[in-house]
Amino acid sequence: MILSDYHIHTCFSSDSEQDPEAVIQKAIQSGFRHICFTDHNDFDAPPEDGKEMFNLDFAGYLKYFQNIKEKYSHNINIHIGVEQGLMRSVADRVNAYDNDKSLDFIIGSSHLVYGEDPYYPEFWGKYSIKDTVAAYYESILDNLNCCENFDVYGHLDYIARYIPDKSYQYRWNDYNDLIHDILKRLIEKGKGIEINTAGLKYGIPEPNPCFDIVKMYHDLGGEIITIGSDAHEEKYLAYKFDIIPDMLANAGFNYYTIFSKRKPEFIKL
Ligand SMILES: [Zn+2]
Ligand SMILES: [Zn+2]
Repeated sequence: MILSDYHIHTCFSSDSEQDPEAVIQKAIQSGFRHICFTDHNDFDAPPEDGKEMFNLDFAGYLKYFQNIKEKYSHNINIHIGVEQGLMRSVADRVNAYDNDKSLDFIIGSSHLVYGEDPYYPEFWGKYSIKDTVAAYYESILDNLNCCENFDVYGHLDYIARYIPDKSYQYRWNDYNDLIHDILKRLIEKGKGIEINTAGLKYGIPEPNPCFDIVKMYHDLGGEIITIGSDAHEEKYLAYKFDIIPDMLANAGFNYYTIFSKRKPEFIKL
């Protein structure tokens, strides 16, 4: 059983209203040992309705969670993380983030592809779907050449969720070479990947990334795998984590990873 959730959002993220303490209560009731809050910070995210988005109040965030970590320290290990948007144009700010080393964990994610958001259908109009998805994977490789300050790459293949033409058959191996290069670069840099279960609630058949990519990461020598629900509401905490132990074991892993003060710790399945 996986008793750690390493990707959780709260009201500190622009797209969540979740009270953190309710998440903590639920995690304690469910017998969790570790949880890590990973609220969004995306430098240069496009504003929505004139509102600044995903700009984390880092000082307020740290202060709040350092307090709450203490308050619940007899019941659960609370870790403090951030989900950081990676992009070449903001690499200097990403690399200088949390210089004082207060955080336990940073997920590096691609929410924007060269400044544009694949969440919106307009993103998809300019080129073929295949070329657009390839550009997304190319942007990840580009990010790996300039962004250092993160521990695992978040929801690696999640762009497939947003392809607006639902009849399109996405196949990960159309991008085999790019994904292979991404995983090799991550391993060379000592970085991990996460398995993210959020898409399962929208009916996609596998977590992000899919099993074949997790296995490729393993077979190339990768060792660092964190597990996250990406919950923006407490009801999705550890969503469908019951499928993860078999997935990991079949890919060749007999442990998963948590982070404390940016150092990996390996937990046996
Ligand atoms: Zn994300
Ligand atoms: Zn997230």
